[in-house]
Amino acid sequence: MVYTTEHKLFLQTLMHRGLLDENKAKDIVIKLFNNEKTSMIVNQINEQLQPLNMLIKKAQCEITGQVYWVFVSTILDNVTRFQEEFSKGQLALLRNIFSEIITSSNGCTQSIQCLNLCSLPDVKLSKANAEEFLSDIVERQWLAYKDGYYYMGVRSITELMPYFRATYENNLCTCCLCKQVIFHGEKCKQCQSLLHLYCLKKFAMVTNPVECPTCHAAFHNFDLSGLVDDSTASMYEEAKAKRR
Ligand SMILES: [Zn+2]
Ligand SMILES: [Zn+2]
Repeated sequence: MVYTTEHKLFLQTLMHRGLLDENKAKDIVIKLFNNEKTSMIVNQINEQLQPLNMLIKKAQCEITGQVYWVFVSTILDNVTRFQEEFSKGQLALLRNIFSEIITSSNGCTQSIQCLNLCSLPDVKLSKANAEEFLSDIVERQWLAYKDGYYYMGVRSITELMPYFRATYENNLCTCCLCKQVIFHGEKCKQCQSLLHLYCLKKFAMVTNPVECPTCHAAFHNFDLSGLVDDSTASMYEEAKAKRR
């Protein structure tokens, strides 16, 4: 395999932004390599990154189901990295929001509640400063925002999992379909099993009527309208291809 200037350019773009949604990544791959084989290109780059303890990972947003390529350092202490970027108060606010999300019943916290955290002694941020910080954090996908609530962002899910595991060991839930850690999803009303919305969507494509994978209670009125269409379909096709 030849590691070319084009590989370096793709990596630089990804490192600069931290993450790319799969459509944007595909556009860049087409422009640079004249093909659509993003996974192959990523694998080739990952071969180079591995000895450096860095990795490009595929991950899905829990709220939109959008698939992203995320640049991850596998050893770099993220807390240290954050300390260079954010003030102590901002970091404390973020930690408190993570804590609110993880200890909540469905992986989210109200934006008003987040602004209330500003007056905590370790945070002490003005509301204006906090609002600006939060919109930046959402922009960069450390948090997701929808209809007045903050959720765990895809970048935190991908990059901060070691921190979450170390800090919230007993409070982390697992999706009963993909067995990965889940913060927000659809909850079975009978047995409280949690499913990612994008996992439920894939599941609903192949099962009718939809019932809980754990206790077989019927699932009614679940709302998957917030999910983007194409990504879930493409992940589904990929999973199907692997099964063949
Ligand atoms: Zn899942
Ligand atoms: Zn159930």
